[in-house]
Amino acid sequence: MIPGSFDYHRPINLTDAVALLSGFDGDARVIAGGHSLIPMMKLRLATPGHLVDLAAIKELKGVSAANGDIVIGAMTTQHELIASELLAARLPIIRETALLIADPQVRYLGTLGGNVANGDPGNDMPALMMCLGAFYVLQGKGGERRIAARDYYQGAYATAAQPDEILTAVRIAPPPAGHGYAYEKLKRKVGDYATAAAAVILTVANGAVTTCAVGLTNVADTALYAQAAAQAVIGSKLDKATLARASAAASAIASPAADGRGSAEYRRKMAGVMTARALSRAFVRANG
Ligand SMILES: Cc1cc2nc3c(=O)[nH]c(=O)nc-3n(C[C@H](O)[C@H](O)[C@H](O)COP(=O)(O)OP(=O)(O)OC[C@H]3O[C@@H](n4cnc5c(N)ncnc54)[C@H](O)[C@@H]3O)c2cc1C
Repeated sequence: MIPGSFDYHRPINLTDAVALLSGFDGDARVIAGGHSLIPMMKLRLATPGHLVDLAAIKELKGVSAANGDIVIGAMTTQHELIASELLAARLPIIRETALLIADPQVRYLGTLGGNVANGDPGNDMPALMMCLGAFYVLQGKGGERRIAARDYYQGAYATAAQPDEILTAVRIAPPPAGHGYAYEKLKRKVGDYATAAAAVILTVANGAVTTCAVGLTNVADTALYAQAAAQAVIGSKLDKATLARASAAASAIASPAADGRGSAEYRRKMAGVMTARALSRAFVRANG
């Protein structure tokens, strides 16, 4: 398949990128790693007249600590997330999740910004960012604003971003040292999108769960923040009955479509199973 024709722009700073994006009356899209956008253009599901490539904008790259937050530039690749020592020390669940995305070739080019901005419910990072309570930093012609990942997703490929806004960074207040974490992803084979997946971050004190957050991937039109599932385990020692309640709460908010990965009923059930597995593994990892 051949994409429609388009003009290619390669700005070297954010100001120029925003000006370009807002200058084409909604007919421009930014391109990051291109691993989601180019296939969509080849299928003519996206037909932008202008592509604004973010690859030459250095300020959009890198992982740093600032004012207690971890700040990840939108153009940081999934490969760079895996290699980051700062993330390994403070947010190891990001590495665990990135390693389950596609294959090394995709991860060398695919970016965190592209993964979360896209609004594809099959992408793994949005549910993780909801679980972590991350904020997205958006830059448009009206200036900068921040929006919680939990408020960003409105439907499949529909987000709270305006057409002239570029996601510049993701900010995360890291959970305390010794927290438990796990990303559990059921997939048919290496490189596949999730049949269902769950991200869990929790803390434990005196053997009981004190805080917990759960995010779900690819079991609805958007990534889901599973508040009731997390609430179900607070104060518990994660006994079998509690795990079953949390699992049922996760399944209850899932509304997957039937596809090549299974029936809607199966995928809804798997949302609960992945949640229980992630909770159990996170609990074992927590130092409480
Ligand atoms: C074979 C294959 C398997 C894959 N498997 C998985 C998987 O298992 N899990 C998973 O999560 N992903 C998977 N992906 C998707 C991959 O991770 C993509 O790279 C990623 O989702 C999009 O990142 P990108 O940098 O390539 O973005 P692009 O494709 O360049 O852009 C995607 C969309 O986001 C927009 N965008 C990009 N960057 C920004 C920004 N900074 N600000 C505003 N809008 C922006 C673009 O305009 C476009 O609409 C797979 C891809 C392939 C090809």
